[in-house]
Amino acid sequence: MKINIKDITAEITELIFTVPASYFTFSPDEAIIRKDIQVKAKVEKVGREILIRGSVKTQLELECSRCLTHFLYSVAENFQTIFQPFSPTRVSEEEVELAKEDLDIEFYKDDIIDLTNIVRDQILLSIPMIPICETQCQGLCPHCGQNLNQGKCSCSAEAIDPRWRKLQDFAKKKTIMN
Ligand SMILES: [Zn+2]
Ligand SMILES: [Zn+2]
Repeated sequence: MKINIKDITAEITELIFTVPASYFTFSPDEAIIRKDIQVKAKVEKVGREILIRGSVKTQLELECSRCLTHFLYSVAENFQTIFQPFSPTRVSEEEVELAKEDLDIEFYKDDIIDLTNIVRDQILLSIPMIPICETQCQGLCPHCGQNLNQGKCSCSAEAIDPRWRKLQDFAKKKTIMN
């Protein structure tokens, strides 16, 4: 995912990279990439500054935090980053970090722009904090562990928290009195 800016002669150049799913490895409980990663980058040259508007598309396998089954999750993220030539004589390390935080600014060295870290970050940022296979997911029975999306278990009706029993009895009494 490297761009040699010497090869960019037009004002705007569109590049497409297809990277195999195995290119990045995350920790298995985080995500598994299941589809080749497609990166599109519109490269715009403004003097020595390079503006890149890009998109990252792939598919991940995630674990549902409710029912623990694995499901496929589509990633379609957009990014916009300005690359400036790195000049250690002008900017201190600290200034570089500050600039990076405020704007999406990165620095390139020796005419090479590498999109690897940006693409990796885009994929990681797309992962939901609490992945859920579908909004209707019923999760697991807290007593027997049955996946409630696949049907009800026998304990779900009986297993009532003892603290509720009194209330239930009270409700019964009330109906009798009425
Ligand atoms: Zn689920
Ligand atoms: Zn159960």
